[in-house]
Formats: sequence, structure tokens, C-alpha cells
Amino acid sequence: MDLTPSKLAYVPFVSVDDMMKIVNHIGAAQMIAEIADYIEADFKRWELFDKTPRVAAHSEEGVIELMPTSDGETYGFKYVNGHPANMARGFQTVTAFGVLARVDNGYPVLLSEMTILTALRTAATSVVAARHLAPKDAKVMAMIGNGAQCEFQALAFHKVLGIEEVRLYDIDPAATAKAARNLENTGLRVVPCKTGEEAISGAQIITTCTADKQYATILTDNMVGSGVHINAIGGDCPGKTELHRDILLRSDIFVEYPPQTRIEGEIQALEADHPVTELWEVITGKAQGRRDARQITLFDSVGFATEDFSALRYVRDQLDRVGAYVQLDMLADPDDPRDLFGMVQRAKGA
Ligand code: NAD
Repeated sequence: MDLTPSKLAYVPFVSVDDMMKIVNHIGAAQMIAEIADYIEADFKRWELFDKTPRVAAHSEEGVIELMPTSDGETYGFKYVNGHPANMARGFQTVTAFGVLARVDNGYPVLLSEMTILTALRTAATSVVAARHLAPKDAKVMAMIGNGAQCEFQALAFHKVLGIEEVRLYDIDPAATAKAARNLENTGLRVVPCKTGEEAISGAQIITTCTADKQYATILTDNMVGSGVHINAIGGDCPGKTELHRDILLRSDIFVEYPPQTRIEGEIQALEADHPVTELWEVITGKAQGRRDARQITLFDSVGFATEDFSALRYVRDQLDRVGAYVQLDMLADPDDPRDLFGMVQRAKGA
């Protein structure tokens, strides 16, 4: 990286349009697989990271959150919202942007849209967890909730886990029809279903990805047979869960960062000391993932800052591969660092 101060004053910015160019250049499934490797690599150096539950500002309608972390060399954060009622008003439920910065001088080195990138990184994180937890011979996945995240999840499981069939269900049939249309010609067998029960029949992996700001029951206990892997994404906020408590009591539960998941995840419904296993421990071999064929494994995903950091790191590394970004004049850089005022005055004359 060029360390000339004037060069550092320009910050690469990846817009939504640029991100779409990057995704279409690399291919969505391939990009998710590559981000998964970055996420897994960062989980392997978990102990190095600054970690904190995200800083959340809650309202009646939803939540706005900041998700910071640092590996000591690079600092990153994501701004993200979650507004379940947005969809009915024609807005996205989740929108985001993120920043990477140098720790040594504090200068930002990347500003990026993260609405699309969050969908990619969430799918990538799901398959990182499933690589260690799902039954090895899994070929069928139920996908409950067919909103913005849905196709990214389906493609990720097809590409990385070898899932051949995805069974779609959403309370809104238009969402299922949209997802089925978008997944045509991807190599996946797509089966739209009329109920959650129909969707999970024959599935070895169940992904729940619904948005509703309440303690919802997307899966009841009798729907979940032994041996399945549940990838629970939608419950990611205080007062917002998807699974009946009895499912949790029958499952081995894997989480990203317990202090955050206890606040936001499915395990809100359990006692504060209910045992959970941290995903990084499974990835590094400190803890066991799937043990046997009858075990129910549950990835209680809420989305953690290191995953966004990994995704931003990945995007930064692709800048020259695709060339889809602009340089933002984001930092004031007077020739004499103390003469900020003089720089403003000279601009008036220029
Ligand atoms: P979205 O609003 O685009 O889609 C949600 C879908 O869920 C909608 O199609 C809706 O009709 C459906 N739905 C609602 N209630 C349902 C029910 N009872 N049964 C079946 N379907 C139902 O939202 P999205 O962007 O796809 O996100 C989905 C959820 O995932 C949100 O809650 C979001 O906060 C969460 N999320 C989590 C992570 C993570 O890292 N864990 C990342 C991104 C999003």
C-alpha cells in the first residue's frame, strides 16, 4: 500500500453499483465461497480480535447497530439496521455500509456498501458453520423465509456444501415465487412449498430466515427430527426469535460470540448459563462439531463484527481484480498538517 500521506487522503469507495459489478464479475456463489474462506481464516485467529457485543439503538420499528472490531493492524465497523416492517413499506429490512481503517494512523482505507455484502457474508458464515456441523451427506435444505437473504443462502449451500434441493416456504407466496424464479438455472432443484412442515420434509438442513419483531415460532418441536442441522439466522435481536424453546433444549447449540448471542439470539429463551459452544473453538479443533448422526446441531446465528471485517478485507483485496470503485476525497490533507484553517482559506482564493 502506498504510504504517501496525500495518497492516503483518498479512500476507495465501493458503491452498490460497484458491488453488483464485483458480484457479477466473480459470480455470487464463487464470491460467497471465497468470503467463507476469509471468515474461517479470521475465526482461526479469534483470540486476536477486539470483541464487543454490537452497540444497538432500539426503537418500536427496529434497530440501528454499530459493529466494531480490530485485529490490531486494521480496524473495521459496520453500520446496519433491522426494520422488519420496512418490507411492507417498500424498503429493505436490512441496509448497511462499512469501513476499514489503519490502526497505526487511524486513516480509513475502504468505505463500502454492505447491504449486498451482508447477504454474502451471512450466507458465507452459514456455510462455514455448516461445514463443521451439518450431516456430511446432506443434500436437501429447507429455506423458511424467502426474503432478501434467501437466494444467497441457497446458492452458498449448493456451492460449498453440495446441497442439491432447496425447499422454499414463506408466509408470503410472492416471496417464494420470487426466490424460485431467481434460483432457476443455478443447478439447484427448487421446490416451492405451501407450509413449513412440507418444506422441512426430507431436509437434513433447515435454514430459518424470517423477519418479525416478536418471539415467533417458525419451527415447533415436533417439526424437528433427529440428526438435522438448523441454521437459524432470523432471530438476531432482543425480543426477536424463531424457534420453540423445546427445540433448543434438544439441540447442541453453536454461537459466534456468546455475550452478543445471549442478548440477541435464540438462546434468549434459555437460562443465562445454558451451555453453548463457540464456533471458533470448533473451527480450531478445540471443541467438537457434529458428533453423531442423531444429534441436532443448531447454529444460533446473529452476525458478528469479525464476519463483516472479513468480508470488508475480502472486498479490499478484490479492488484491483475488478476495478469497480471510486476514490473519495474524504480526508482533509493540508500540506502542513497543522494548517487546516489555511487550507480552507486558500480554497476560497482558488
Ligand atoms: P426480508 O424482510 O427481506 O425477508 C423476510 C421474509 O420472512 C419475508 O419474505 C417474510 O414474508 C418472511 N416471514 C415473516 N414471517 C414468517 C413466518 N412466520 N413464516 C415464514 N416466513 C415468514 O428479510 P431478510 O433481509 O431476508 O432478513 C431475514 C432475517 O434475517 C431478518 O430478521 C434479519 O434481521 C436477519 N438477518 C440475520 C443475519 C445474521 O447474520 N444472522 C444477517 C442478515 C439478516
